Amino acid sequence: MNPKALHKISYGMYILSSKKGSEFNGQIVNAVIQATSKPATFIVCVNHENLTHEFIEESKVFTLSILSVDASMSLIGNFGYKCGRNFDKFEELDFRIGQNGVPIVLDSTVAFLEFKLINQVMLSTHSMFLGEVLNGDVLSAKDPMTYAYYHEVKGGKAPKNAPHYIGIEEENKIEIKKDSASGRYVCTVCGYVYDPEVGDPDSGIKPGTSFESLPDEWVCPVCGVPKMQFEKEK
Ligand code: FE
Repeated sequence: MNPKALHKISYGMYILSSKKGSEFNGQIVNAVIQATSKPATFIVCVNHENLTHEFIEESKVFTLSILSVDASMSLIGNFGYKCGRNFDKFEELDFRIGQNGVPIVLDSTVAFLEFKLINQVMLSTHSMFLGEVLNGDVLSAKDPMTYAYYHEVKGGKAPKNAPHYIGIEEENKIEIKKDSASGRYVCTVCGYVYDPEVGDPDSGIKPGTSFESLPDEWVCPVCGVPKMQFEKEK
C-alpha cells in the first residue's frame, strides 16, 4: 500500500477531554465523525492504552474542544505527546467545566461539543466511542484547524497511538526528501521538523534562524525534548 493515500483522508484537530472522579485528562484526536443528526451522534476513536480511554469508560462522558487554525504547537504537544498519568495537562490552561462535568478547553478553541457515551466498539488497538451530543457552542469566528494544516503547515506528525500512525521513519520518507541541504532538523521523539525558513514563532524564534543558532534552552515545541534529541534531516 502507498502510505501517501492515508494522507488524503480529511480530518480535524480536537482536544478530547474526560474525567474520572475529580481528575481530568485530555488528548489530541483527529478521528472524529458525525454519525447521525437526530439525535446528533458522533464517533471518536481512542487508543486502549490512553488515560482518556480509561476515563471515558469510567465516567461515560466526554467533550470535544475544536482547535482553531492558530492553536500553538505547544498546546497540541501538551495534549498530544505528554502522558496525563504523570502530568496535569489542565494546569496553567484556560478552561471551564461544562454541563457534563468535563473541562472545555478555551485556549485556541473555536467551538465545543459535550457528550454522553451511548456505545463502545472495541477494535484491535482503539475503541470507537459513540457519543450523543448534550450541549455545544461556538466560541470564536476563527477557522478550525484541519489535520492537513497541522501536518503541512505546522510540521506536525502523528503520535504513536494515533489510529493512522505509520511510524516516524515512514512519515519522514514521505514528507522530507525535498531538499537535503535545507538546514531542517527532525525531532527523533515526535517527528516535528524545525525549518529555519519558518522558525518557531510560538517560542519567539524568527524565520531565518538556523537550528545551530537556536538558544540552548530551546525545546521541541511539540514534545518538549531538548535540541540534542534532534537530527539533521537526511
Ligand atoms: Fe518533539
